[in-house]
Amino acid sequence: MWPGWCNAAHAKAYGRIRLITGDITALKVEAIVNAANESLLGGGGVDGAIHRAAGPGLLAECRRLGGCPTGQARTTRGHALSAAWVIHTVGPIWRGGGCAEAQLLADAYRNALIEALKVGAASLAFPAISTGAYGYPKEEAARVAVHTIRDFLAEHDMPQQLVLACFSEESAQAHERALHELLPEWKSCGDAKV
Ligand code: ADP
Repeated sequence: MWPGWCNAAHAKAYGRIRLITGDITALKVEAIVNAANESLLGGGGVDGAIHRAAGPGLLAECRRLGGCPTGQARTTRGHALSAAWVIHTVGPIWRGGGCAEAQLLADAYRNALIEALKVGAASLAFPAISTGAYGYPKEEAARVAVHTIRDFLAEHDMPQQLVLACFSEESAQAHERALHELLPEWKSCGDAKV
Protein backbone atom coordinates (compact mmCIF):
# COMPACT_ATOMS: atom_id res chain seq x y z
CA MET A 1 0.00 0.00 0.00
CA TRP A 2 1.33 3.45 -0.81
CA PRO A 3 0.26 6.91 0.35
CA GLY A 4 -2.84 8.04 -1.46
CA TRP A 5 -4.21 4.55 -2.07
CA CYS A 6 -7.22 5.17 0.14
CA ASN A 7 -7.89 8.52 -1.51
CA ALA A 8 -7.93 6.89 -4.92
CA ALA A 9 -10.31 4.15 -3.81
CA HIS A 10 -12.76 6.64 -2.32
CA ALA A 11 -12.22 9.55 -4.68
CA LYS A 12 -15.57 8.98 -6.39
CA ALA A 13 -17.46 9.03 -3.10
CA TYR A 14 -16.42 11.79 -0.76
CA GLY A 15 -17.39 14.89 -2.74
CA ARG A 16 -20.92 13.58 -3.25
CA ILE A 17 -22.00 13.19 0.39
CA ARG A 18 -23.64 16.02 2.35
CA LEU A 19 -24.69 15.94 5.99
CA ILE A 20 -27.66 18.02 7.12
CA THR A 21 -29.74 18.37 10.26
CA GLY A 22 -33.44 18.65 9.53
CA ASP A 23 -36.64 17.19 8.16
CA ILE A 24 -36.10 14.85 5.22
CA THR A 25 -39.55 15.66 3.77
CA ALA A 26 -38.47 19.28 3.15
CA LEU A 27 -35.49 18.39 0.99
CA LYS A 28 -35.31 19.22 -2.70
CA VAL A 29 -33.94 15.91 -3.90
CA GLU A 30 -35.18 13.47 -6.51
CA ALA A 31 -35.69 10.60 -4.07
CA ILE A 32 -35.96 10.21 -0.31
CA VAL A 33 -35.59 6.99 1.64
CA ASN A 34 -38.23 6.00 4.16
CA ALA A 35 -37.30 3.95 7.23
CA ALA A 36 -40.48 1.89 6.98
CA ASN A 37 -41.75 -1.24 8.71
CA GLU A 38 -42.44 -4.54 6.95
CA SER A 39 -46.13 -3.75 6.40
CA LEU A 40 -45.32 -0.55 4.44
CA LEU A 41 -48.60 0.79 5.80
CA GLY A 42 -47.15 3.74 7.68
CA GLY A 43 -45.98 4.21 11.24
CA GLY A 44 -44.40 6.82 13.48
CA GLY A 45 -41.11 8.67 13.21
CA VAL A 46 -39.84 9.47 9.75
CA ASP A 47 -42.37 7.08 8.19
CA GLY A 48 -45.27 9.07 9.69
CA ALA A 49 -43.69 12.37 8.60
CA ILE A 50 -43.26 11.13 5.02
CA HIS A 51 -46.84 9.86 4.80
CA ARG A 52 -48.22 13.14 6.21
CA ALA A 53 -46.22 15.20 3.73
CA ALA A 54 -46.93 12.93 0.75
CA GLY A 55 -50.68 12.67 1.35
CA PRO A 56 -53.07 9.70 1.09
CA GLY A 57 -51.94 8.68 -2.40
CA LEU A 58 -48.74 7.30 -0.90
CA LEU A 59 -50.57 4.92 1.43
CA ALA A 60 -52.80 3.77 -1.43
CA GLU A 61 -49.74 2.95 -3.52
CA CYS A 62 -48.01 1.25 -0.58
CA ARG A 63 -51.04 -1.00 -0.01
CA ARG A 64 -50.54 -2.44 -3.48
CA LEU A 65 -46.93 -3.46 -2.71
CA GLY A 66 -47.87 -6.12 -0.15
CA GLY A 67 -45.10 -5.32 2.33
CA CYS A 68 -41.32 -5.54 2.29
CA PRO A 69 -39.00 -7.91 4.20
CA THR A 70 -36.31 -6.47 6.47
CA GLY A 71 -33.22 -5.44 4.52
CA GLN A 72 -35.05 -5.03 1.22
CA ALA A 73 -36.48 -1.94 -0.50
CA ARG A 74 -39.49 -0.92 -2.60
CA THR A 75 -40.10 2.26 -4.60
CA THR A 76 -43.20 4.44 -4.94
CA ARG A 77 -43.91 7.87 -6.35
CA GLY A 78 -43.48 10.87 -4.07
CA HIS A 79 -47.08 12.14 -4.49
CA ALA A 80 -47.33 15.55 -2.76
CA LEU A 81 -43.65 15.55 -1.78
CA SER A 82 -41.12 17.60 -3.67
CA ALA A 83 -39.19 14.33 -4.18
CA ALA A 84 -40.39 12.38 -7.22
CA TRP A 85 -39.70 9.04 -5.51
CA VAL A 86 -39.91 7.47 -2.09
CA ILE A 87 -37.72 4.43 -1.57
CA HIS A 88 -39.09 2.42 1.34
CA THR A 89 -36.64 0.22 3.12
CA VAL A 90 -36.94 -1.74 6.34
CA GLY A 91 -34.06 -1.65 8.80
CA PRO A 92 -33.61 -4.26 11.51
CA ILE A 93 -34.95 -4.00 15.05
CA TRP A 94 -31.95 -3.86 17.41
CA ARG A 95 -31.84 -7.05 19.48
CA GLY A 96 -28.40 -6.64 21.04
CA GLY A 97 -26.26 -7.09 17.93
CA GLY A 98 -26.21 -10.88 17.66
CA CYS A 99 -29.08 -11.21 15.19
CA ALA A 100 -27.32 -10.07 11.99
CA GLU A 101 -28.46 -6.49 12.62
CA ALA A 102 -25.35 -4.95 10.99
CA GLN A 103 -25.75 -7.06 7.85
CA LEU A 104 -29.47 -6.29 7.62
CA LEU A 105 -28.86 -2.57 8.10
CA ALA A 106 -26.18 -2.60 5.38
CA ASP A 107 -28.62 -4.49 3.13
CA ALA A 108 -31.28 -1.84 3.75
CA TYR A 109 -28.90 0.96 2.68
CA ARG A 110 -27.52 -0.95 -0.30
CA ASN A 111 -30.91 -2.09 -1.59
CA ALA A 112 -32.25 1.47 -1.30
CA LEU A 113 -29.26 2.68 -3.35
CA ILE A 114 -29.97 0.01 -5.97
CA GLU A 115 -33.60 1.20 -6.18
CA ALA A 116 -32.34 4.77 -6.67
CA LEU A 117 -30.16 3.54 -9.53
CA LYS A 118 -33.14 1.79 -11.12
CA VAL A 119 -35.24 4.99 -11.21
CA GLY A 120 -32.24 7.10 -12.22
CA ALA A 121 -32.40 9.41 -9.18
CA ALA A 122 -29.50 11.85 -9.36
CA SER A 123 -29.99 12.98 -5.76
CA LEU A 124 -31.04 10.87 -2.81
CA ALA A 125 -31.56 11.53 0.90
CA PHE A 126 -31.37 8.97 3.70
CA PRO A 127 -32.67 9.21 7.27
CA ALA A 128 -30.77 7.38 10.01
CA ILE A 129 -32.47 4.04 9.44
CA SER A 130 -33.31 1.93 12.53
CA THR A 131 -32.03 4.53 15.02
CA GLY A 132 -35.47 5.63 16.28
CA ALA A 133 -38.17 3.19 17.34
CA TYR A 134 -36.03 0.24 16.22
CA GLY A 135 -33.35 1.16 18.79
CA TYR A 136 -30.13 0.64 16.80
CA PRO A 137 -27.26 2.43 18.63
CA LYS A 138 -26.61 5.67 16.77
CA GLU A 139 -22.80 5.47 16.53
CA GLU A 140 -22.79 1.92 15.21
CA ALA A 141 -25.64 2.60 12.80
CA ALA A 142 -23.84 5.68 11.45
CA ARG A 143 -20.71 3.60 10.75
CA VAL A 144 -22.75 0.97 8.87
CA ALA A 145 -24.51 3.72 6.90
CA VAL A 146 -21.32 5.56 5.91
CA HIS A 147 -19.40 2.37 5.12
CA THR A 148 -22.17 1.03 2.85
CA ILE A 149 -22.79 4.36 1.11
CA ARG A 150 -19.06 5.00 0.62
CA ASP A 151 -18.50 1.63 -1.03
CA PHE A 152 -21.57 1.98 -3.25
CA LEU A 153 -20.69 5.48 -4.46
CA ALA A 154 -17.12 4.37 -5.15
CA GLU A 155 -18.55 1.78 -7.56
CA HIS A 156 -21.39 3.80 -9.15
CA ASP A 157 -21.76 7.23 -10.74
CA MET A 158 -25.36 7.57 -9.51
CA PRO A 159 -26.74 9.00 -7.37
CA GLN A 160 -24.53 12.01 -7.98
CA GLN A 161 -25.54 13.67 -4.69
CA LEU A 162 -26.32 11.89 -1.46
CA VAL A 163 -27.73 13.62 1.62
CA LEU A 164 -27.55 12.16 5.12
CA ALA A 165 -30.59 13.78 6.72
CA CYS A 166 -30.18 13.66 10.50
CA PHE A 167 -33.06 14.70 12.71
CA SER A 168 -31.02 15.62 15.79
CA GLU A 169 -27.63 17.13 16.56
CA GLU A 170 -26.66 13.86 18.28
CA SER A 171 -27.39 11.91 15.12
CA ALA A 172 -25.55 14.45 12.95
CA GLN A 173 -22.50 14.25 15.21
CA ALA A 174 -22.49 10.44 15.04
CA HIS A 175 -22.55 10.62 11.24
CA GLU A 176 -19.87 13.29 11.15
CA ARG A 177 -17.60 11.09 13.29
CA ALA A 178 -18.28 8.10 11.04
CA LEU A 179 -17.49 10.18 7.94
CA HIS A 180 -14.20 11.40 9.39
CA GLU A 181 -13.29 7.86 10.42
CA LEU A 182 -14.27 5.98 7.25
CA LEU A 183 -13.85 8.69 4.64
CA PRO A 184 -11.09 10.98 5.94
CA GLU A 185 -11.14 12.96 2.69
CA TRP A 186 -14.74 14.03 3.39
CA LYS A 187 -15.13 17.65 4.44
CA SER A 188 -18.13 19.12 6.20
CA CYS A 189 -19.65 22.01 4.21
CA GLY A 190 -20.29 24.05 7.35
CA ASP A 191 -23.34 23.73 9.52
CA ALA A 192 -25.99 22.70 6.99
CA LYS A 193 -29.47 22.92 8.44
CA VAL A 194 -32.88 22.82 6.75
P1 ADP B 1 -36.86 3.17 12.74
O1 ADP B 1 -38.13 2.44 13.07
O2 ADP B 1 -36.17 2.63 11.51
O3 ADP B 1 -35.96 3.30 13.92
P2 ADP B 1 -37.73 5.96 13.06
O4 ADP B 1 -38.55 6.78 12.14
O5 ADP B 1 -38.30 5.67 14.41
O6 ADP B 1 -37.36 4.62 12.26
O7 ADP B 1 -36.31 6.66 13.26
C1 ADP B 1 -35.31 6.68 12.28
C2 ADP B 1 -34.59 8.01 12.35
O8 ADP B 1 -35.35 9.00 11.68
C3 ADP B 1 -34.37 8.53 13.77
O9 ADP B 1 -33.04 8.99 13.87
C4 ADP B 1 -35.36 9.68 13.87
O10 ADP B 1 -34.92 10.69 14.76
C5 ADP B 1 -35.34 10.18 12.45
N1 ADP B 1 -36.48 11.02 12.01
C6 ADP B 1 -37.72 11.12 12.52
N2 ADP B 1 -38.45 12.00 11.80
C7 ADP B 1 -37.64 12.46 10.82
C8 ADP B 1 -37.78 13.40 9.74
N3 ADP B 1 -38.92 14.05 9.53
N4 ADP B 1 -36.72 13.61 8.91
C9 ADP B 1 -35.54 12.95 9.10
N5 ADP B 1 -35.35 12.06 10.08
C10 ADP B 1 -36.37 11.82 10.93
